[in-house]
Amino acid sequence: MTVFSAKEFDNHEEVLFFHDEKSGLKAIIAVHDTTLGPALGGTRMWDYKNEEDAIADVLRLSRGMTYKSSLAGVNIGGGKSVIIANPRKDKTTELFEAFGRAVHHLGGTYIAAEDVGTSVKDLEIARRMTPYIAGIREGNCGDPSPATAWGVFHGLKAAVLFRFKKDSLAGLKVAVQGLGHVGYALCELLAEAGAELIVTDTNDAAVAKAVQKLGAKAVGIDRIYNQNVDIFAPCALGAILNDDTIGRLTAKVVAGSANNQLAEDRHAGDLMKRGILYAPDYAVNAGGIIVISHEGPDFDREKAMRQVSGIYGTCLHIFERAERENVTTAEIADRIALERLEKVRAEKEQLALAS
Ligand code: NAD
Repeated sequence: MTVFSAKEFDNHEEVLFFHDEKSGLKAIIAVHDTTLGPALGGTRMWDYKNEEDAIADVLRLSRGMTYKSSLAGVNIGGGKSVIIANPRKDKTTELFEAFGRAVHHLGGTYIAAEDVGTSVKDLEIARRMTPYIAGIREGNCGDPSPATAWGVFHGLKAAVLFRFKKDSLAGLKVAVQGLGHVGYALCELLAEAGAELIVTDTNDAAVAKAVQKLGAKAVGIDRIYNQNVDIFAPCALGAILNDDTIGRLTAKVVAGSANNQLAEDRHAGDLMKRGILYAPDYAVNAGGIIVISHEGPDFDREKAMRQVSGIYGTCLHIFERAERENVTTAEIADRIALERLEKVRAEKEQLALAS
């Protein structure tokens, strides 16, 4: 098992492993880059097949957070944590208290929030042990998922304008993979905008709710890639754009909340060759981190959500620049994120030299 030489390592500042025998906690916290501020990223609880998968996941997700915050223009660094356990069976108060102590150990270098497998309730337990938890307090930002969905909705609309030259989603067919916190909220927005929904989830109750309340059509887990739709919105897990799935898509736009949608970087090129406009995942799913960046005593939800709507303009800019430079949208998003990071890094070095 490797960490420093893992291909996902990419110059992480810190990777910490935590174990608490009493509660059974096994967690990894990765801090990729704190140039822009303290590292902030969700806590994923997942029953990983093995420890290598957990390490690779936390490193990839943590790096992704650095790029996401940089592109979104917020002063937050990139980090992430994973708890190796089954979210349906292993949740206990003791486990999340132990996780809170682990987060506290970093003294604010890393701030945790919710992610796949964890909820606001879980993070509230961790909050008893540390102030370094974001996205939980009602009246402040609360659960960031609705803001994430709002941002995905705007990124998706920008992609529709660019690809189909349409200002409305009415009558467009959208295949949504995953009906969790973000996916379901996105479906509500899409249904309200007149889109037709085709959905799937491993959770039957979530599917039944979308069918009943939003008039969605349900399909099996693997059939979601084969649907005759205009847009594919992945809102479950990563690596779903791969050698097996890309050739099966009829959608001309991919825009969804899932992190790390491309199994490998080269898959962005495969999408481009097939004429599919890919809205880079971390560009469209930055709504949560944007509202969290507004947290504080003067939290103003309307102002925060206005900034989230700006994802529309960010995406249009990415699409236009990619077309002009004849490179993938993923490449352009990375370049913009790195340009800002390098500029701030250089400014900080100058300041350090001057003092
Ligand atoms: P969630 O755990 O609430 O929802 C995930 C959903 O996907 C669940 O309903 C689950 O049953 C379903 N699912 C799991 N495997 C599936 C499969 N193979 N096919 C179809 N459905 C499957 O998580 P969430 O908070 O809604 O996040 C969804 C995605 O968006 C994740 O990749 C997450 O990292 C990303 N994201 C979330 C936020 C946020 O604010 N919550 C922010 C940025 C990115």
